[in-house]
Parts: sequence; C-alpha cells; structure tokens
Amino acid sequence: MGRGPQNASAPSGTGGFAIYFDGTSSRRRLVTLEFNGRLEINEYERTLAAWSYADIRRADSPSGTLRVTCLSAPALARLEIRDVPVAEQLILRCTQLDDNIPGRRGIARIVGWSLAATVSIVAVVLFGVPLAADRLTPLVPQAFERRLGDVAEAQVKTLFGGKVCDNAAGQAAFTKLVTAIRESAGLDTSIQSRVLASPVPNAFALPGGKVYLFDGLLAKAGNADEIAGVLAHEMGHLRHRDGTRNLIYNGGTSFLIGLLFGDITGSSALIFASRSLVTASYSREAEQSADMFSIDVMHRLGRSPKPMGELLFRVTGKESDNGLSILSSHPLTQDRLARMSSEDRPPNGAPLLTAEEWASLKAICHSNN
Ligand SMILES: [Zn+2]
Repeated sequence: MGRGPQNASAPSGTGGFAIYFDGTSSRRRLVTLEFNGRLEINEYERTLAAWSYADIRRADSPSGTLRVTCLSAPALARLEIRDVPVAEQLILRCTQLDDNIPGRRGIARIVGWSLAATVSIVAVVLFGVPLAADRLTPLVPQAFERRLGDVAEAQVKTLFGGKVCDNAAGQAAFTKLVTAIRESAGLDTSIQSRVLASPVPNAFALPGGKVYLFDGLLAKAGNADEIAGVLAHEMGHLRHRDGTRNLIYNGGTSFLIGLLFGDITGSSALIFASRSLVTASYSREAEQSADMFSIDVMHRLGRSPKPMGELLFRVTGKESDNGLSILSSHPLTQDRLARMSSEDRPPNGAPLLTAEEWASLKAICHSNN
C-alpha cells in the first residue's frame, strides 16, 4: 500500500484482470492491472504499458464492460474491464475519464453529419458507390481524417519498413521544404514531416498533415525541385481529399455503415481502411488535378514543375515495379509527363533549398550529424 498517493481513498495494488489490445496488432491479451502512480498493464511479470490516469478516456462499450483508451497510447490501444469492482477502482482514479464525451454542439454536429450521411447512403443504393463517394467525402469530419492518418502512419511503417531518419541537418532541410510547399499550397494544417529509410521510391501525404518521403525516392532525385513537385502533388491529393474518397469507394457499403454508426473507431475496419489509404491507386482525374495543383504551387514558388516529371520518369527506369513505388498508386501517363514539361518555366524564385541543405537532405539516412 501507499505507492499510489494520488487519491487517499484509492490505495495502490493489484486491480485484477482485464483484456488489453496494444493498438498495433489485433492480439487480445489477458492482463492484470496494477494501480500505482500510473495504471500498469501487466502480462505475466512484464509491464506492457503504463497509462497516466489523466490520459485515460472512456470509449463506447457494450453494457457490463468498461472500455477505456489512453491519449498517450496508440490510437487503437484499449482496455476492457468486465469486473465491476476493478472498473470502479479505475473510475475513481481517472479524473478526466469522460472529458471527450461530446458536448451539445458536438452532438448536434454528429447528428447533422449522420443525417447527411444517411441521405448519401440512400444515394449508394440509388446511384451506386462512385457518386456517393463524391457526395460523402466533404462530409467526413476532419477529426476522423486525422484519426485515419494516425492509423495509416502505422501502416506506412509496416508496409514499407525502414526506420525514421532523424539526422538533424537533414530533418531541418526537409521541414523547410515541406513548409514552403504547404504555405504556398494554402494548407493550414500543421505538418509532421519524416524521411523513412526505406529503399522503395515513394512519398506520401496522409490526412492530418503527415508527410513521408522515402529514402528510395530521395536517392533517385537530382535536385530539390524534383522532390518539391512530388510533395506538392501529394498535398494536392490531401487538399482534394482523394484518399478519403478512395476509402469510401473501396470500402463500399460496409465502410459507410460503420462510419455512420461510429463503429469504425477502435475496430479493425480502420486498419483495413488506412491500408487502402496507403496502397490504393488514384483515378486518372484525381492524378490530373493533383498534377495541376502541383504545377500551380511550383509556379507560385517561382520554380518549374518539369523536374517532378523527370524524377517520376527516372523511377520507371530499369527496376521492375514491385507494387509499392509511387507509380503504382500514381500511374504515370504520357499526358501527365507532357503537361509537366509544357508548364516548364525558367525559375524566377529563390532555390527552395541551398546546395548545402539539399546535400543534408540527400544524406539524411546516411549520416549521423
Ligand atoms: Zn497522385
């Protein structure tokens, strides 16, 4: 007793059994809970996680079960407690347990959104999914997209492997490049940009403002404009919410119904959905408008969009496409190349990176300083 001084009426100690999902695999673990300074989640003798009581939030659950998540844990991590005394002990300690239960305005928004979604689901039945995807996409809440982005981030790491390269000079150069493009693109979300040490030539922008560049694409790039054009193209997809539209289209009716009833949160459907966010290819129209977006952004920065076409053309080179490169999700057609070349203009803006910054970015996965 006495190791958990947070609440005099709630002494520390073993709290009993619960079911735990770590949020990265679908494995269901039987764990014991210990109420110490933090909530310790133990499997046999091993502590799997320790959650701060202040970060623990109640999640939707069937009656008779207390289901909680933790703000500082992976988005899908959760605990399920069926033992009433154990649940009561936990509730006693979690002072902000119900903080994210939506207030009146939140509920009104959800109801409004659900009504709009219902109308659109009728459209699925009447007109088929493609039209409904177009109608539904603008209605999907930003918060939901951010959540998708969080889960998709784990998918990116699983599918493509490679760890995050965190050499400071390279990261500073990458952040500078991404910020310049984002500001010129008029995207107001805060951006998290990372380079992954994966040999796959690819780049991603995920909902919620996560931008990934893979070392494999960086290795093939000859200058900052080539990478900038690709990143601007990805942000075009974000701006047009093409990923979300794809999700609705590919996930079809079951995804829509899950979305409508809020069943998506914490379910494996979200993992499935985020996978398609990372691997599904975009339509010809989506590619064209992302290209137009990129061309526009590059012109505004006083740079040419042509280098992007040259980089993509180089990626098609000798290596056979293993299905994960940027070209599998963004098919490069003759007319795309032709458009980028025809929009070529001599640069009249400052270089996006200095020669030194570009060298640091190129070396981000191969240098320790
Ligand atoms: Zn694209």
